Amino acid sequence: MNIPAPTRSVSLIERFRDRLPFSAGDPIVTLGEGSTPLVLAERLSERVGAEVHLKLEGLNPTGSFKDRGMTCAVSAALREGAQTVICASTGNTAASAAAYAAKAGLRGVVIIPDGKIATGKLAQALMHGARVIALRGNFDQALDLVRQLAERHPIALVNSVNEFRLQGQKTAAFELLDDLDGRLDALCIPVGNAGNITAYWKGFVEAGSAPRMLGFQAAGAAPIVNGAPVAEPETVASAIRIGNPARWEEAIDAMRASHGAIRAVTDDEILSAYRLLAATEGVFCEPASAASVAGLIKYGAEGAERVACVLTGHGLKDPDAALEQAGAVLPCEPQLRAIERAVLG
Ligand SMILES: *Cc1c(COP(=O)(O)O)cnc(C)c1O
Repeated sequence: MNIPAPTRSVSLIERFRDRLPFSAGDPIVTLGEGSTPLVLAERLSERVGAEVHLKLEGLNPTGSFKDRGMTCAVSAALREGAQTVICASTGNTAASAAAYAAKAGLRGVVIIPDGKIATGKLAQALMHGARVIALRGNFDQALDLVRQLAERHPIALVNSVNEFRLQGQKTAAFELLDDLDGRLDALCIPVGNAGNITAYWKGFVEAGSAPRMLGFQAAGAAPIVNGAPVAEPETVASAIRIGNPARWEEAIDAMRASHGAIRAVTDDEILSAYRLLAATEGVFCEPASAASVAGLIKYGAEGAERVACVLTGHGLKDPDAALEQAGAVLPCEPQLRAIERAVLG
């Protein structure tokens, strides 16, 4: 038998170095991010009449796509001699920044909206040793404050307003084209601060490809769809609970240039796609991620033959949301009769 020796996982910066602003001698902070699986969703494909693939970004080291951008942002911060990295976050940026700061030996500080962060993400940020500050305000206020702070102090801001974040995140587009032999008609993606849709479009353009960019916001946090900021965004999809996206203009550009669309899906539609993915495709993502699939189901493939849905974060990030949606556990006495009834009934 000839079993190949296990290979060391390649860092995202190493894999795509010729397309990223890093040279051979630069320090690289990596946890083995990127190169995530692309899985054909058979039942979903049948339902929408197109070949639908799921990009499992929840399989990045901290459980979300934010790691793609964070390896670049934190590596660049280290190169520039920063000692502290900071971000405002609905949760996943905090978890990712905290992990990469720990790996780099930098101080991590994360500002989160008070009481509005999923349990798994909070546990991660705390375990990685970041200073976690709960702001009595929403994400948009937190981002505004960290931007001011980073202007006044020698602290590296690692939100997606940081160009290195987009540079890292654009690599997911390269992976999709690699895995699909260059042929993709449409990309479905959740939109919060709009950094990711901007990054994917950048990647596709650099690779000479132009799938339709179909972005989806939660109906209670849909400023781009409504054409006006939302003062108090509200949705079960906490990762996209954002009322004034930092990359608003770029998202509109990506939508127009790709002949795509940015549209809204309700919380009910998001949760229904969330349960469907877990129960019929075997893929557990967090609610915000399911917005991409909810949008595909709601608006259809619209002539696209091959579609990719970006599942941005892992389902384990938000166990409370899952338990609220899931079926009940069956209690059982330790007797054969009882267990027969429980199993076969
Ligand atoms: C950050 C995030 C989003 C939104 O990405 P933006 O770049 O802010 O548009 C969507 N889903 C998950 C799970 C996220 O963590």
